[in-house]
Order: sequence, then structure tokens, then C-alpha cells
Amino acid sequence: MKRTIPIIFIFLLIFSELVYAEGTIYNSAAPEIAFTEEEQYAIDNYKELKVLIKGDSYPFSYYENGEYKGIYPDYLDNISELSGIKFTYVPYESDEQIESYFTLGKADAIAGTYGGWQGLYNVTEPYTILEYNVIARVNEDISKDKPHTVAVSGTDIAVKNYIFEHYPNWSIIPCRNINDAIKKVNSKKADITLLTSVDLQTTVSLLKYKNVKVVEDFSVYIPIGLAVSSVSCPDGLRTFFNKFIICQPLWDNEDVLRHYILNGIYVPDMFEFIIAHNEIMILILGIVLILITAIFIRWNILKRAAATDSLTKLWNREKFMKEAAKKLKDHKDKGFLMAALDVERFKLVNDRFGIEIGNQTLVQIGNKIKKIFKGNGIYAHGSGDEFLIFAMDTPENRERMNKAAELDVKINNTTNYKLPIKVGVCPVTYNDITENDITAYLDRAKIAKSKIKGHPDNGINYFTRKMGDKLNRENELQTIMRKSLENNEFLIYYQPKYNLENNKIIGAEALVRWQHPTKGLISPGDFVPLFEKNGFIVDVDFYVYECVMKMLSRRIDQKKRVVPVSMNVSRCHLNSPTFTLRLEELADKYNIPKDVIEMEITESIFSDEDRAAIKLMYDLKKRNFTLSMDDFGSGYSSLNLLRELPIDTLKIDKGFLETTDESVRSRVIVEEIISMATKINIKTICEGVETEQQRDFLKQAGCDMAQGFFYARPMPLEEFEELLDNEK
Ligand code: C2E
Ligand code: CA
Ligand code: CA
Repeated sequence: MKRTIPIIFIFLLIFSELVYAEGTIYNSAAPEIAFTEEEQYAIDNYKELKVLIKGDSYPFSYYENGEYKGIYPDYLDNISELSGIKFTYVPYESDEQIESYFTLGKADAIAGTYGGWQGLYNVTEPYTILEYNVIARVNEDISKDKPHTVAVSGTDIAVKNYIFEHYPNWSIIPCRNINDAIKKVNSKKADITLLTSVDLQTTVSLLKYKNVKVVEDFSVYIPIGLAVSSVSCPDGLRTFFNKFIICQPLWDNEDVLRHYILNGIYVPDMFEFIIAHNEIMILILGIVLILITAIFIRWNILKRAAATDSLTKLWNREKFMKEAAKKLKDHKDKGFLMAALDVERFKLVNDRFGIEIGNQTLVQIGNKIKKIFKGNGIYAHGSGDEFLIFAMDTPENRERMNKAAELDVKINNTTNYKLPIKVGVCPVTYNDITENDITAYLDRAKIAKSKIKGHPDNGINYFTRKMGDKLNRENELQTIMRKSLENNEFLIYYQPKYNLENNKIIGAEALVRWQHPTKGLISPGDFVPLFEKNGFIVDVDFYVYECVMKMLSRRIDQKKRVVPVSMNVSRCHLNSPTFTLRLEELADKYNIPKDVIEMEITESIFSDEDRAAIKLMYDLKKRNFTLSMDDFGSGYSSLNLLRELPIDTLKIDKGFLETTDESVRSRVIVEEIISMATKINIKTICEGVETEQQRDFLKQAGCDMAQGFFYARPMPLEEFEELLDNEK
């Protein structure tokens, strides 16, 4: 379509240059005419005529820039020039108006029309003949003789009159405009309509109506003349005009139309275009509306998807936090409860029953929380097996929290085993901090939850002031830790290890201390767990390792006595692929023989991440480091570990020793551990030796080494060196 328009225009342009010439249309040669008496009377008395004209009937007559233009006024100008009669134009809109205009004497003529109408006017000889194409539905049999219903635009009286006169068996269906007329044909409300080629080129496009076409070999030619009122004018006026008209060549409809179209006299403005193409516009608007709706729906789906957890269909953490913050802000005077709920050791469910069953269990938990809190709070599925709840702090909601902690969740809904649920709760009231960081309160709920101990580790726990103080302390430490490390505020203390046989120093353990500028010396129990949480322990450990190696290297260079020093390995190194390599590089850098450093790995690592811990042990062993298993007997020690792991030394936990004083059973166990380890070539050391009695017990049990306050406390480097150097 887009292409055909310019092609048609170019074609018309060339064609018009050939055919169209000013003279062929405006042949203004004055004829020599003789007039009747009646005509002469009319000429003398009707010097000025009021002519009805339409202002919206391009290209026949239209109103533009304050004047009437188009084929009819052009032709009338021509007549006016020849006859000396002046025409003034009076606009009209419908044929109903004609009667009142004529009878009231407001008009004397109609610029261009066909036929007479109810004796009101008579029409001159035609000055042009308009060709109307017959538009009908495809495959419809249309002929002149058959009765048809014709859709005719209400303003087109020429067409109406013509049909009345020439096709009396056709019936007329009035329409608002030509587009309406086509639509009526398309929708079978009418059989045909009549349109000029201008209509087809400028106003309507048949392409959009699949069922409609131009009927070939069937055009209706309607002669158009000047209608002269029989109310206000004598018929002599009409015959007078006739004499001018018949002397002129007929205006060629095609040429005239071409002239108007090619000269671009008329360009339908946007508004008219919209009216004329209202179907297209409605379609476009419809599509735009559908698109907007689709985008809106999609946006909503995305928004909801972004806010929901795909598994449980509950809110996700982000949405939950946002809504919780909003609730808090909207009820500044109310207290709330922020809670975190999880299943103790949920990993085991996944490991034993598979992810599918694990997921079903989570959905079950989500549904149960929903049931408990529906309408009384908001809830979400956080990450893993964690669920979040936020509700107003009321006795009823505290009771609901208790219920949540007692959730009866069963794996696969069949087993009798009820999963242990932990709920940590933190009361929240509105203040500046809560507004900016509500996640801090979720962290607190989690802290409260993590403090739940017992069997089988379930229940509910509220965040306390003591926990808050600890948290504040930790936050404080956290903000200065990096600077402190750069400022060498971390010190290494050495605690000697003694040979139980001869009471001589046989080694030492490096233990870190934090020499805080205002808080004094802080022991690792107060910061190592925090640094393990935030990962900073990795830096601290390597700092310790380097300090120890520097010391060893110096003593080796000074040819002083060197004893093996053991260093602690945090669980944070477990999953680091570079840990052992980095350690080895450090040892190489300071030229330290591997047998003077020993790495202590705590037994508790093995209960959580067995595989990674075993791998780390073997990695270290591969690089010839000496390995010690620390805190043996503090947790669920497995004797199998001793068999499986490349351990050089077994360090018996101090807690074990504490009980040997009173308990025969403990003594037997320690004795057995020592004897067994010795049998498989693992050296034994006992830490936390505080008394002579303990020392004696260990000695008789065959333990190799001892470490503890009985011998020496952890001490600064200088002291340790002095002790070592002065030992006889
Ligand atoms: P650990 O590895 O079990 O270290 C032994 C702890 O027992 C040390 O506490 C030591 O001072 C203490 N101790 C020694 N003899 C006795 C005794 O006779 N009686 C009692 N009651 N305690 C004794 P410390 O130095 O406070 O260290 C605590 C824990 O901090 C260490 O336990 C270790 O797990 C961790 N830690 C210390 N330094 C480092 C380090 O450089 N890196 C890492 N990752 N952890 C470290
Ligand atoms: Ca240790
Ligand atoms: Ca230990």
C-alpha cells in the first residue's frame, strides 16, 4: 500500500502533464447567445444569487482559508464571469435544510446537484458528469436491473435523487458518511454503495475490507448541474444558465479530479484522516491498548514473581523486608516481633530423602506458618530452610510464635519423626535505626535462634539485652579490625609444650591476642568466632603464620634452639583452594623446614564438613606439614578419624582432662586413647594441664607431651624466647 501511493501519484503526474491543460477545463470563450424574454428578465433582476454549497465535499466543494473552493465553485466562477451574475455562497449540511433555505428566501440555488426535489428547484443542464463506482461485496451478483439496497451518505442528494429517478427498485439506506456506507456493505446491511474515484483515493481504502470490491463494468454516471430555486427565481434564470453551460464543453470528470488531486489542493488533515479511517484508528488504539494491558499484566506478573519465592509461593526475603519496614513505619507507636525459623540440621533431610522430599517439606512448613499467622502478620521463605515472620508484638502473636516453634512437620507426611524447629525472635520498635536497617533485627532474631541449645535443639528464643551488648561489641570490633591488623595490634603469644618424660620444652602453640588501644588485651574467645563469621580470620591466621615463620627463621639464622611451633587452622580455610599453597609459599619464603611447623585442626570441623576437612588434611600432608588434631574428645570424636587421617599428633581436649580427676571412666578412656594412638604411631599431647595430679596421670598413661598452666601460660615472644634460651 505504501508503495502504490507514490506510484499512482507519479503516474498521474506524467499523465496529467500530457492531458491536462488549463484551456481544456476553463474554456472561457464567451458565446454569442440570444435570450428569451423570461431570460432577459432574470438577467436584469438577478444580478446576485445566494448559492447553497457544502464546505466538506472535497474535491467538489470545500471551505478553506475563508473561501469556497473546488470543482463547483470553480465552474460557477466561470459562469459568473461569462454571465455577469455574482454568486455568494451559503453553506448547508443536509437536504432537509434546502427546503427551509429556499422557502425562507435565504438561498436561490445549489452549486452542484442532480435532479429536482419536491418542486423546490430545477437543475440546469449538467456541467460535469461524475462517475460513481459501484462497491459491493465479493461474489455478490450486482446488476442494474436487480433490486439492491444502496448505502448513501446522508449529504449526497445528487446520488439520492439519481437513484430515485433511475433505479426506482433500489432502496436507500442513509449513512453518516462514505466510510459508514462501506461498512454497511461489508456487514451486509446494504448491497452496494456508490463512490467516486476521489473518495476511493483520498478518503477510504477498500483494502481493509476483505469482503468488499469495486464492481467491474458497472459505474453510475450522475450529471451535475446548477439547481435553481423555483421558490425565489423564475425558470428563465435556469434556462439562461443553460445557455452558458451548453456552450461550454463538459468538464471532464477524470481530468478535473486529477487536477485537484495533483495540485494537492486538498490534504486531509489529521482529524479528518482519523474520522475517515476510524476503523484503522480504532484498530491501532485497540492494539496499543492490548499492548499496554499486556505490558501491564506482564509487569505485574514479573513484579509478583520478583516478590515471591517460586517453591513455597510465599514472599521472598526482599519483599518481606520491604513490607516489614513499611509496617513499622506505618505503626511507629507499636512494637513488633521479627522472627527467623528454621529446621535443625535440615541438610540431613535433603541428604537422606532427596531434594524433592526436602522441597515438599519446605512447602509444608510454609503452609503451616501461613495457617498460623494468616492475617496476623507477614511471612516469607528466606534462603534454604529459613522462614521469616513479622508480626505485631501482642500476647496472641507471641503465642503464635510458640506454635510456630512447635510445628508438627513430618518428612513426606508419613514418617513419625517430627522435625526439630528453631525460632529466634527479636522485638522491634520504631526508631532511626530500624527505619534504615530492619535487616539488623532479622540478624538479631537469627542470633537468638543460634543460641538455642539442647535436645533435640528445638524451641524458641528471644533476643536479649545481653545478646544485644555482645552484638554491639562485635559491631564495634568489626569496624576497627582491619586498621588494627595494619597497625600490628595483633600479637602472638606462645604457650610452651613440655615433654612429659623430662619436663623439657618440646614445642609451643602460637595463640593470637588483640592488643586493643583502649580495651586492652582481648583474648581470641572474644573475636575469633566473630572473625570466623565475617571471614576476617583468614587474614589474621596468615598474619600469625607469617609472624611465627619470621621468628623461626630469625632463630634459625641466629643458630638458636628451635622447637616446633603449632598454629591453629580456622574452619574458614576449609574451602579455600589456595590455602595450602599459600602456606607452603610462606614457609618457602622464610626457608622454614616443614617439621618445625605443625598445623592444628580442630576436631569439630569433621562433624560439619568432613569431606573438605579430610581433603585439607591430605593436602597439607602432601606438602609435608605436620598435622595435629586439636580438641580431640570435645565433640563427637570418631576413632575412625584416627585411622583415616594422616595425623601426626593427637591433642586431647582440656575438657576431657578436667573430668579425669573424679571419673574413673574418663581416666580409662583417656588411657585407652593414648595407648591406641601410640600403637598407630600418633604422638599424644594433652592440653589444659593445670595440676601436678593431672601431669602424673598423663605421664603414667603414656602421654608424650603436656601443655597447660601447670607448666606455663601463653606468653609474649620475648618471654618465650627467654624461657627457651635459658632452659638447661
Ligand atoms: P585452642 O586452640 O584450644 O587453644 C588452647 C586454649 O586453651 C588457649 O586459649 C589457651 O590459652 C588455653 N589454655 C592453655 N592452657 C590452659 C590451661 O591450663 N587451662 C585453661 N583453662 N586454658 C588453657 P586462647 O589462647 O584463649 O585461645 C582460645 C581459642 O582461640 C583457641 O583454642 C583457638 O581455637 C582459638 N585461637 C587462638 N589463636 C588462634 C589463631 O591464631 N588462629 C585461629 N584460627 N584460632 C585461634
Ligand atoms: Ca589449638
Ligand atoms: Ca585445643
